[in-house]
Amino acid sequence: MIDYTVNNEDEGLEINGLDYFLNCIDDLIEIGEIGLFGACRFNLKNFSVVNDQLGRANGTKVMRRFLDGLALKLGVDHVLCRLGGDNFVALFHKSCLDELRYYLKGQDIYVNEEETVYVSASAGIFMIPESGVDKYYVMEAISMAAKSAKDAVAMDYIVFYDHGLQAKDEREKYIHNVFAQALENREFKVYYQPKVNLKNYMLTGAEALCRWVHNGEVVSPGEFIPVYEKSQAICKLDFYMLEQVCKDLRRWIDEGRQVVRISVNLSRRHLRNQKTLSNILEIVDRYNVPHEYIEIELTETTMDQNFDSIKRLVTGLKNNGIASSVDDFGTGYSSLNMLREAPWEVLKIDRSYLPDTKKYDEKRQSMLKHIIAIASDMGFECIVEGVETLEQLKLIKRNNCFMAQGYYFDRPLPVWEFEEKLTYE
Ligand code: C2E
Ligand code: CA
Ligand code: CA
Repeated sequence: MIDYTVNNEDEGLEINGLDYFLNCIDDLIEIGEIGLFGACRFNLKNFSVVNDQLGRANGTKVMRRFLDGLALKLGVDHVLCRLGGDNFVALFHKSCLDELRYYLKGQDIYVNEEETVYVSASAGIFMIPESGVDKYYVMEAISMAAKSAKDAVAMDYIVFYDHGLQAKDEREKYIHNVFAQALENREFKVYYQPKVNLKNYMLTGAEALCRWVHNGEVVSPGEFIPVYEKSQAICKLDFYMLEQVCKDLRRWIDEGRQVVRISVNLSRRHLRNQKTLSNILEIVDRYNVPHEYIEIELTETTMDQNFDSIKRLVTGLKNNGIASSVDDFGTGYSSLNMLREAPWEVLKIDRSYLPDTKKYDEKRQSMLKHIIAIASDMGFECIVEGVETLEQLKLIKRNNCFMAQGYYFDRPLPVWEFEEKLTYE
């Protein structure tokens, strides 16, 4: 069924586009054969790197060969179209599902006599039912699944559309849509998780963590933060949190309590905004909170465009007496260079470096030791997060880290419970 007649921007890659794909679905519905087919939307992983390495013309050839190989696997009865760039859609006979999955997982593609290049794809698949769908439904289903596959960890390179996915998507839309109202209704609450000095077991600080109390339920940040990170909502939420923290600090100081430094999480989205520093200072100063009581937690990144903005923000905070910490250190892309370049005060080591956690292995134990040593050599405060057991606590002390945060001491606590720990001077 493949038809290469429609023009496309790359020479040598004449292939149909979206209209053709949608028309084919209409045709199959009309002749009553749609239930025999599956639909797939896929994206070639890191294809821009292939283009950069081989040049555009060779990149196009590789793409062509990858598609030709796929077409062979899918037999005569299929449709393959390009949405643009490295995004494609396909209709395939259900009996070819395994071949399709196996192929998209990755193939060595011939470039010339000396070279091959490995091409793989992430994909969303919808096994189309006999009735009850139209072309838009199919397109929506594969797009939703493909998006989920692209976001997922490498293992889930293929995601099937099902009602669970649809429910997840609807929940995300709901969370997104009610944000403004929820913020106005003050549904977001600050919880404080104590940080403990392991030399004297005294409270030395706390991290402000967000909880959303919505329709009588507490929604965890794991559910709503990733949704808000997709838009500017996260920035409003972070500033709202900072403001609540400043209000609490002001009240505690006025009540004559002995306060500790409170850290507030700041999403990486703020880095794109030149005004982030002045916004932070404006909020802190509005409540007349001494800067030494505020710490800003940022997650590490190696992305070049963020590197300068991180440096600028952390330096600006430091110049104004506000500490910054590297959050989740050791996950994702740790950059030792970044530690050197910006005036961080605190390194927060991720809990995956502790035994009995999912990602832990022997190598991490030795890394933990050396990370702590680097941190103290470089003059950072060092804290390990997610400490749950006495064994873990002993381990980090043995490695010369004397600050910890975790369930072993306290879960994140509501304000009234946390403030009981702040004694009067
Ligand atoms: P995070 O910044 O790494 O925060 C630490 C997380 O570890 C918190 O999860 C905390 O409850 C959890 N935790 C603390 N001790 C333990 C322990 O002993 N064991 C285990 N298993 N977990 C422990 P939480 O509160 O669910 O927050 C999850 C993430 O959501 C945070 O990770 C942070 O990235 C994000 N988040 C939370 N509040 C905010 C916020 O106001 N703004 C932004 N931008 N992100 C936030
Ligand atoms: Ca944090
Ligand atoms: Ca963390």
